[in-house]
Amino acid sequence: MRIDLHTHSRASDGTQSPEELVHAAVAAGIDVLGITDHDSAEGWAAASAAAERTGLQLVRGMEISTRHDGHGVHLLAYLPDPTHPELVSELDQVLEGRSSRVPAMVARLRSLDIDITEDDVRRASGHSAAAGRPHVADALVTLGVVADRDEAFARFLDRGRPAHANRYASPLRTMIRVVAEAGGVTVIAHPWGRHGQERPDEAALAELAALGLAGIEVDHQDHGPRSRDKLRAIARNLGLVATGSSDHHGAGKVDHELGCNTTDPEQYAALLTRIDAAAAASSRTAPLVINRENNL
Ligand SMILES: [Zn+2]
Ligand SMILES: [Zn+2]
Repeated sequence: MRIDLHTHSRASDGTQSPEELVHAAVAAGIDVLGITDHDSAEGWAAASAAAERTGLQLVRGMEISTRHDGHGVHLLAYLPDPTHPELVSELDQVLEGRSSRVPAMVARLRSLDIDITEDDVRRASGHSAAAGRPHVADALVTLGVVADRDEAFARFLDRGRPAHANRYASPLRTMIRVVAEAGGVTVIAHPWGRHGQERPDEAALAELAALGLAGIEVDHQDHGPRSRDKLRAIARNLGLVATGSSDHHGAGKVDHELGCNTTDPEQYAALLTRIDAAAAASSRTAPLVINRENNL
């Protein structure tokens, strides 16, 4: 049984529609797929309909941008009630933060006497709804302010540089609680992946486990073999589920093909146990795992 619990569609920054993602998963021999777009359940309905038609087992989730001790942490939330008021309000703030970040960066650059406008950034992004920091950098290149993206980041846009703007991210501890109240379970995505440091460490993960964290994503392209071994041992010590997944983005991210990392069926069974407990502890009756009876 091939289980891939972390993938993206066009509902966030993947390149496939939710239906295309489901069909690609079937074609790739995936039995259980998690759809986990950033900060959004927008792709759930279309993915669910496609899963119903194909028989694919589908776990609906999202990857939420959180902050923990000053660092960004991606938190996978599986099967929370997406209409839970506190969850909705946190996600709204995250999404708003994304769209207000470009104006904030442009305003800071203008205050440095750089003649850049939001239109310049929109043009650089090809009028994408997801315009962000790389597009501000590209606009600075087009305007001749810097030679390339790297210079734009180093001089202006990196954390600590004068045009850097933070985006809102929910506090991790809060989000673990909110997702639990919404009847879902939480797994930290690629915990050691983005910065190459072993952080959060075992003590920090123990504290998060006590708050209700259900698992950590161990097998991910951003983790080398040594990190995977250490994280697997930590998961075992703390009674956390160890998941594995592709973090597939369609053509949007190379070397993240569907099923390139998978979750062990025993670990998935443990996650399902946590999912059932979370649903029982809350008042939610939906969403459920689609086609859960299949392939077991
Ligand atoms: Zn991520
Ligand atoms: Zn992801």
